[in-house]
Amino acid sequence: MVGIGAGRELLTLKALKAIEESEYIVGYEKYVKEIEEFAKGKKLITTGMREEMKRVEIAVELAKKSVVSLVSGGDPSVYGILPFVFEFLMKKGEDIEIEVIPGVTASSASSALLGCPISGDHVVLSLSDLLVPWNVIESRLLYALRGGFVIAIYNPSSYSRKENLRRALRLVMEERGDLFVGVVKNAFREGQSISIVRVSELTENPDLVDMNTTLIIPNYETIVKNGKMFTPRKYEAKKMGGITRGALEIVERSSEILKNIVPGDGLREEILRRCIATTGDPSIKDAIQFNGDPWEGVEAIKKGSRIIVDVRMVKFGLRISSICAVDFANGDDTKTSSGLKSLEKLIEGSVVGIGNSPSAAITLYEISKFRKPRFIVATPVGFVNAEESKQLISSLEIPSITTKGTRGGSNICVAILNCLVEYAGRSD
Ligand code: SAH
Repeated sequence: MVGIGAGRELLTLKALKAIEESEYIVGYEKYVKEIEEFAKGKKLITTGMREEMKRVEIAVELAKKSVVSLVSGGDPSVYGILPFVFEFLMKKGEDIEIEVIPGVTASSASSALLGCPISGDHVVLSLSDLLVPWNVIESRLLYALRGGFVIAIYNPSSYSRKENLRRALRLVMEERGDLFVGVVKNAFREGQSISIVRVSELTENPDLVDMNTTLIIPNYETIVKNGKMFTPRKYEAKKMGGITRGALEIVERSSEILKNIVPGDGLREEILRRCIATTGDPSIKDAIQFNGDPWEGVEAIKKGSRIIVDVRMVKFGLRISSICAVDFANGDDTKTSSGLKSLEKLIEGSVVGIGNSPSAAITLYEISKFRKPRFIVATPVGFVNAEESKQLISSLEIPSITTKGTRGGSNICVAILNCLVEYAGRSD
């Protein structure tokens, strides 16, 4: 299994040696042609596009008696033919000796031509929906965008897939705005072209992209200057988990104002400041009630306690994964309450966040008598049972944070939980 690299001259010494030692070279015609000059005197067997299985079959049959190089562009494992080989051998129960020789993949080659965009965490994603359903591709792209990754897009387009590119670009625009995208066509091959264009330009001119193109979507840290693109290793917005420089300035100014309203370096003060920040209301600090030590919440999360929440608004706001009660609702009760009941066994030892539903808080109180959570944040809101439900929670012998009276809400619950999560992630 020989990766011949994403373009001419990107062949490794090891790949060259393997080709020299082989009797047969099998591959897609375009790739075999690319290494022709190194394969003089070899028996060349080529097949067309989408004939991967045929190539594999031929190569495996020949490999029973001879040394065969099955060549693949770039790296043989990256959207390459290698997984088909393993699949075939497993299905047939055949046993031949395989050596895998890695190759320079298109994302490395394209990154090099653009400068240095993939210097840190990045995602490689193919837009081809031949083997993977489009909804899976789309949701992976969404999470990669939200995760702040630089993204290398393979198979961005073919005649039948222009629509996929259009939808992907729309998502990029929605999530990251009209930023510059690296477009590398035929890297290290004849017809090489490198351009850096805006998402909107690319959307209007989809012909800038073809089957031999790799797109590099930068992240907010990436700098585009003098026709080059690079992503610094050091995160400027390090503490803020990937926000832009402009936003960081605002956050810093806001933090100064909040420190004047609630001075102090403790966890309690930080929680109060965040509740004020999320509501824009300094008086909310008088409604926050600490029942026991909030550090217990930090410790629980640090030790890996699972987080259970009442509604999706809380789940989606959290910077950590959680289980949401409404997803487990199955009774006549309110969704959050019946959901919590079905999660009953998991509640023991968990951190539970109730941001919206008084009925969930009451159910949690009942469950907590025999299955004790480690920590509770209960800020349900409203005029029916909200106040009573929080009084019940604060009467438990379990450390918790609640809001007094009718006040509260999912945003406050999220602000508090995210603060605990952040403190739990600190090394000091
Ligand atoms: N195994 C290959 C990828 C095969 S999928 C590898 O590791 O590189 C085919 C896709 O790879 C193309 O649609 C294109 O997006 C990308 N690609 C391969 N070679 C390329 C090149 N020389 N320049 C730009 N993109 C390339």
